Amino acid sequence: MTTEELIALSEKTLMGTYRRFPVVLTRGEGVRVWDSNGKEYLDFVAGIAVCSLGHSHPAVVAAIKRQAETLMHVSNLYHIEPQIHFASRLVENSFADKVFFCNSGAEANEGAIKLARRYAFEHMAPERRELVTMKDSFHGRTLATIAATGQNKFQVGFGPLPEGFKYVPFNDLAALEDALTERTCGVLLEPIQGEGGVRVPDKDYLRQVRELCDEKGILMILDEVQVGMGRTGYLFAHEHDSVKPDIMTLAKAMGNGFPLGAVLATEKVASAFVPGTHASTFGGNPLAMAAGLAVLDTMLRQGVLENCRRQGACFREGLKKLKGKYSFVKEIRGRGLILGMELTIQGGDIVRSCMEKGLLINCTNENVLRFVPPLILSESDIDRAVDILDRAMGEMP
Ligand SMILES: *Cc1c(COP(=O)(O)O)cnc(C)c1O
Repeated sequence: MTTEELIALSEKTLMGTYRRFPVVLTRGEGVRVWDSNGKEYLDFVAGIAVCSLGHSHPAVVAAIKRQAETLMHVSNLYHIEPQIHFASRLVENSFADKVFFCNSGAEANEGAIKLARRYAFEHMAPERRELVTMKDSFHGRTLATIAATGQNKFQVGFGPLPEGFKYVPFNDLAALEDALTERTCGVLLEPIQGEGGVRVPDKDYLRQVRELCDEKGILMILDEVQVGMGRTGYLFAHEHDSVKPDIMTLAKAMGNGFPLGAVLATEKVASAFVPGTHASTFGGNPLAMAAGLAVLDTMLRQGVLENCRRQGACFREGLKKLKGKYSFVKEIRGRGLILGMELTIQGGDIVRSCMEKGLLINCTNENVLRFVPPLILSESDIDRAVDILDRAMGEMP
């Protein structure tokens, strides 16, 4: 089939939930992908912060191949070797004592919301059912996670939504304090708001949220689906802020492209999940676990986090130079290799122009260019990306 025929068939048969770019991507290696016409792109989207080790990382490919030939799925009615190893490794490297595996970010957040409510049901007053979440947050597309998401555009037309969510502005401690009542069982937030425009917490904000939660005896739940697993230069973004949550969710980069999510929690909170309370057929299956374990081990042993910090600083410098050059750049934000460039103009034309020139980037919130490249990229990849971006920005009126 020609590319045009493929795209026509795609539009005919797939539900219109995405406005896709008119290309078919067919192959990837490291920081690069190729389309069906053989055109090469530098990939600074990485499947939306998923392929952090780059496309087709050999360690992940080998682990998946090996496991596929051995055992792919048996269900959680039985113990699963790679699941036990992956969970232990996550526990060794995080605040958490226990892990629940699932298949996506939304499912992880559903699990976290259920765990918080169940914990409250067992250990708090019966009326403590509510979670306070943030405006401009993003927690997924299921009914409970769009209810948790503090953005009306994701909720319109999907009611009635699950009850029990209240929203306050990010980085506004006083508003949070005001919103907490005797009905609140926890606070759910992203340590950096990704979809909401790469919004970084103010110094001390997360620590103050933690203190507030401790004072009220409620749970702090961090959604690290986008910024966890190395994206900010540390395994988890909350390490920047020296806080520990009670519950944390992960997904995106966990399997480097193999669908995989998780809920992590302290022993005390996790004890609210007993047999029969929560489950997932595919969650934690041998194939996913082999992929996840290979990703985590590669990240921890191959200097990936160090490279992320180093290249993140280098990329930020490059973006700052562009800010000096173009008056429509308002601000550069982010940590490690999740960087956002807020514009005073819409970002769509720059994204399209970069694509023509061989660079994939993404725009969120209409005017924030978001860069989430593979963490294994080199300085020459950054130079090339900044050069393309410079030329694309130079075309703007
Ligand atoms: C992407 C994302 C989700 C949703 O993850 P899915 O795998 O698409 O369900 C949830 N929270 C955050 C912070 C995200 O970035």
